Amino acid sequence: MTFAKKIKSIALLSVLLYAQTNAYTQFKQSYNPDIDFYTTTDFESVKKIDAHVHIRTLDTSFVHQAKKDNFRVLSIVVDEDPGIQVQQKDAIYQKQLFPDEVSFATTFSVKNFNDPKWKKEVISDLKKSFSEGAIAVKIYKNIGMDLKDKAGNFVMIDNPKFDPVLDFLTKHHIPVIGHLGEPWNCWLPMNQMTMNHDKRYYSKHPEFYMYLHPECPSYEDQINARDSMLEKHPDLRFIGAHLGSLEWNTDELAKRLDRFPNMAVDMAARIPNLQYLAMKDWQKVHDFFMKYQDRLLYGTDRIADGTQKAAEAEELAHSAWLRDWQFFCTNDKMNSSNFEGDFKGLKLPKEVINKIYRLNAEKWFPPLRKK
Ligand SMILES: [Zn+2]
Repeated sequence: MTFAKKIKSIALLSVLLYAQTNAYTQFKQSYNPDIDFYTTTDFESVKKIDAHVHIRTLDTSFVHQAKKDNFRVLSIVVDEDPGIQVQQKDAIYQKQLFPDEVSFATTFSVKNFNDPKWKKEVISDLKKSFSEGAIAVKIYKNIGMDLKDKAGNFVMIDNPKFDPVLDFLTKHHIPVIGHLGEPWNCWLPMNQMTMNHDKRYYSKHPEFYMYLHPECPSYEDQINARDSMLEKHPDLRFIGAHLGSLEWNTDELAKRLDRFPNMAVDMAARIPNLQYLAMKDWQKVHDFFMKYQDRLLYGTDRIADGTQKAAEAEELAHSAWLRDWQFFCTNDKMNSSNFEGDFKGLKLPKEVINKIYRLNAEKWFPPLRKK
């Protein structure tokens, strides 16, 4: 080798070495496990949103706890007992007391659905609710599971009579939270249900246990009606409550998220289902969260109705929130009262946690961004 060639190869080697060291340093800087993942001690300091709660009381202990735990909450009014007006009054009261912490979603009644004046009444009620501060509208499972037309047939959400209302909401960029259908367990025999809370609920409420009511619309009917409604309203900003009633299978949920770009889902009351799926196949659930990190909203379905003593209610809310945080942020071995067996936390990167715990809610419910 000539001297010149030797110098050239030494120079090349140094460049390569430098590039490699540099890349390694950059990798080390960009991948610091202490920086990239939250721990349980970060719980209080990170700003969070619980995008699905029901505050049905004038008692303020729940919101006080939310504030302490650095949560803002979206309280959802539902077309069920104790009535829309009562729930909305509670929501407005809480929002006035805690303008920074509480937002609310309204709903509409289907009591006069078969009356020709229904559409006009609904739109006028919705306008009033928006003037009172509502930022979204809930569609409830009574559509599809209870409401009947004049001929006695079940009315599904893709019924054309809903179109003008959905068009009105689309035009005004109002997000819709849709609780349509029930978990798949509701159509299964007791011994095939995956969740203890479903077993308890449907034993107590045989009237809602669809396995006992084959005359009612099937699980597939509920999902198909929702999908066909979304097909008709591609510009509607839609948040499927309870993982869009597809809590039993991330592939099925992924299919809908791929098909409907304006659809997101909240996890309210379905985190145990995610934990069950993580027990069966941790990697699959982790991959699902990584891929759909922009479409998943944290929510609990916690009901604050003033029936529990304040201290007890605060402690229950706090410990449930903390447990969910542990599941999403760490890879701790955990278990659930809902099913037998252990599962591992998902240990999602900070970036994903920030999205599911706040940024996605701010994106799907834009008024939350201003706070
Ligand atoms: Zn709910």
